[in-house]
Amino acid sequence: DTIGANLDRAVAAWPDREALVDVPSGRRWTYAQFGAAVEELAQALVVGGVAKGDRVGIWAVNCPEWVLVQYATARIGAIMVNINPAYRTHEVEYVLKQAGISLLFASLSHKTSDYRAMVGQVRGGCPELREVVYIGDPSWQALLRRATPDVSFEALSCDDPINIQYTSGTTGFPKGATLSHHNILNNGYFVGESIAYTEQDRICIPVPFYHCFGMVMGNLAATSHGACMVIPAPSFDPKATLEAVQQERCTSLYGVPTMFIAELNLPDFATYDLSTLRTGIMAGSPCPVEVMKRVVAEMHMAEVSICYGMTETSPVSLQTRRDDDLEHRTGTVGRVLPHIEVKIVDPATGVTQPRGEAGELCTRGYSVMLGYWNEPEKTAEAVDPGRWMHTGDLATMREDGYVEIVGRIKDMIIRGGENIYPREIEEFLYGHPKIADVQVVGVPDERYGEEVLACVIPRDPADPPTLEDVRAFCEGQLAHYKVPSRVQILETFPMTVSGKVRKIELREKYTAV
Ligand code: ATP
Ligand code: MG
Repeated sequence: DTIGANLDRAVAAWPDREALVDVPSGRRWTYAQFGAAVEELAQALVVGGVAKGDRVGIWAVNCPEWVLVQYATARIGAIMVNINPAYRTHEVEYVLKQAGISLLFASLSHKTSDYRAMVGQVRGGCPELREVVYIGDPSWQALLRRATPDVSFEALSCDDPINIQYTSGTTGFPKGATLSHHNILNNGYFVGESIAYTEQDRICIPVPFYHCFGMVMGNLAATSHGACMVIPAPSFDPKATLEAVQQERCTSLYGVPTMFIAELNLPDFATYDLSTLRTGIMAGSPCPVEVMKRVVAEMHMAEVSICYGMTETSPVSLQTRRDDDLEHRTGTVGRVLPHIEVKIVDPATGVTQPRGEAGELCTRGYSVMLGYWNEPEKTAEAVDPGRWMHTGDLATMREDGYVEIVGRIKDMIIRGGENIYPREIEEFLYGHPKIADVQVVGVPDERYGEEVLACVIPRDPADPPTLEDVRAFCEGQLAHYKVPSRVQILETFPMTVSGKVRKIELREKYTAV
């Protein structure tokens, strides 16, 4: 199916069920209304001269129009380019040019970001950019007034590119993955199948739409099952998220582990009624065991699912199932999804490792991207001639097929010839009573090549743990070479918009100290 055909099916099957709710503005759409709004916007785009294959950018925080643009561009086969709402002029100019965007949808402003002013600064340097439409501005209404029912849409194929999504930029500069209907619609569908979504489900989506977590695992999983997408706020806000779950009686809640931590740490956490939740997805980075236990017990998310994926694979390849026990849900990222293959290879030789041994995780199947947009060399480095995507993540596979993520190859610390996986030390330090959150990185060291640095957010800023505290805590519990030799106290970590800690910045910043 194309995304448009799949939406038609949802509209026919569940016309009166709610499809989309925007909590901040109180606006709501049933599937019939949502389908009609998508159709109207699609017609307006065609009349406005947008053809199949044209790049349409969206640079906006979460709002219903984001979702309408997603489905309307897919309906006509235009290629939607997701632009990170945290970008500033230099970065957005790069994307506008690199992707050759002719029409841009943008937020007007949000918090300190004045998108209109920034577009004004870069527009002159982007000759291909014909038109800019601001969401919540007369230019949006003017665009819609062009819609006429008699326009015809071009024929589409499931394998057409319809989306360029950028990776999070956790390890460097973001890369634009080109994806087809087939890639992302199937992935959204199978992710929704694993958590048994039906038209009864209401999914609270505080993760950014610009990222695959929001637009595929959220929106496409919802519309392929008749479930409702609930937008709690334009950008992540722990209070607004829990309020939306309570008010909209959501059954499912999404987030990266840091978002769940922020929600659980709200002073008034216990006052929210979260009893309607049954499931949700936690993904993007490893989840500390203690956090998972609290999510299950205190947020009622007994069926919460862990997903592992990457933008380049649409994104999800591994997922825990509804009936998995706590151990599998904290110790592993689950099993492979239907119609996807995984293997774990020795990064040096490419030979498949025996079960239980660490190596680079590779995935193959319908979900592998068409390629990085206009970057054939980078594509060839990531996707080999056998169509295997090399993820850059180290993993092991258990006898029962469940996969454990050990860490990113780039984050591995090599100290005096010993391989150290930061995750293991982070999990351990998380149990320290004075530590609220911790990130472990390797920093250059003359003697050992690299040393272990623990960057710590203390529970009580007035009483942070000292290096001696941390070392005493590890004494006798971790091998000596894993014990941090430096501790850096911080208030926050540098984050990507998708909620991941940019260890690369921590490494760069604290290298010189
Ligand atoms: P970039 O490629 O630009 O450095 P990124 O890899 O963070 O950024 P994404 O595509 O958003 O960009 O994220 C994919 C990565 O996230 C995976 O390669 C993996 O390292 C990590 N990841 C995803 N899910 C999980 C999970 N459940 N547990 C641990 N790590 C995960
Ligand atoms: Mg990546």
